Amino acid sequence: MSWSLPAWVRNLDQSSLEAWLRQEEAPRLEELWAAADLVRRERVGDEVHRRGLVEISNHCVRRCAYCGIRAANSQVARYRMEPEEILACARQARAFGYGTVVLQSGEDQAHTTQWVAELVRRIAGETGLAITLSLGERPARDYEVWREAGADRYLLRVETTDPVLFARIHPGYPGREPRLAILRHLRGLGYEVGSGVMIGIPGQSYASLSRDLLLFRELDLDMIGVGPYIPHPDTPLGVDGHPDFPDAPDGGQVPNTEGMTYKTVALTRLVRPDANIPSTTALATLNTEQGRELGLRRGANIVMPNLTPPAYRVLYEIYPGKACVSETAAQCALCLDGRIQAIGRVPGTGPGWRPGHEPDRR
Ligand code: SAH
Repeated sequence: MSWSLPAWVRNLDQSSLEAWLRQEEAPRLEELWAAADLVRRERVGDEVHRRGLVEISNHCVRRCAYCGIRAANSQVARYRMEPEEILACARQARAFGYGTVVLQSGEDQAHTTQWVAELVRRIAGETGLAITLSLGERPARDYEVWREAGADRYLLRVETTDPVLFARIHPGYPGREPRLAILRHLRGLGYEVGSGVMIGIPGQSYASLSRDLLLFRELDLDMIGVGPYIPHPDTPLGVDGHPDFPDAPDGGQVPNTEGMTYKTVALTRLVRPDANIPSTTALATLNTEQGRELGLRRGANIVMPNLTPPAYRVLYEIYPGKACVSETAAQCALCLDGRIQAIGRVPGTGPGWRPGHEPDRR
């Protein structure tokens, strides 16, 4: 790196990452924001890419302890969008000038291998947009078929790289290793690969979050999403003081705050300088006025405007109070572009690959 970055940026190891996560002094934090913003500008530029998000189903077979659409939550009305409805959202993405459409859902077994492949083919053929899938853990073969059908990217957060904490918040899962294996498999198939963690999960220590950051570097991820954990009252983890989910001991618990999220976003930029990093909706939920902008000014370069039709959007309640839940797609598009321009950045054009890593299009 030839521009004027302080030496500590190059030497980030676990103990300095942990010290930064614990840092509370405003002048030091200004230094962190400045370094992250500088690296962001040099490595991914001023464009803010917009990834149009379509939440295609809230059916889920999993029982993730934090997630509002977990199988055991009988309070949620379930929906599954029809291919035609999803295509209409993808057309809107193109009309708004977005370069990417992201299809996300619970782990819905009605989404067969072929159903998803056909949907991907139709979206790719009709819109030419980059296609990101975020459909959870699937058999290895599904990822291959979907890549062949035209999917470009896959998002699968590891949520925490701490094996004990991972097992605690994912009852009935085989553990974090299969997830890491999937990320490697996706990379081998030529996908751009995204992962990330939640910040402030009960039981998550500073040491654990600093190890997450080291893993982002090691996995050479193309996309990294980090956002605050937000308790959902209809989940086991959302019950205050639940005996199965103790805080990390001895002052080691990471708080699920806005400030901790900015620190994690900024450090993520410093450990993975050319990754695409979103300023997440969960962050905007903690601070609807300024959260997205502050994320973008402290390392992030991506936003994910919601394209899900409002009637479904309210039902995709992975956490409560989700920002922009009652806005139409057109309102989201206008609002976000205004926010991007107000901080002196420009809405991105084109698919917005990780610089220098453009994959083959199928
Ligand atoms: N079923 C897919 C998509 C899950 S929703 C999958 O498993 O990959 C996308 C992300 O929302 C999750 O990966 C998780 O990090 C986040 N999320 C879920 N519940 C949350 C909560 N209560 N607070 C904050 N983020 C949450």
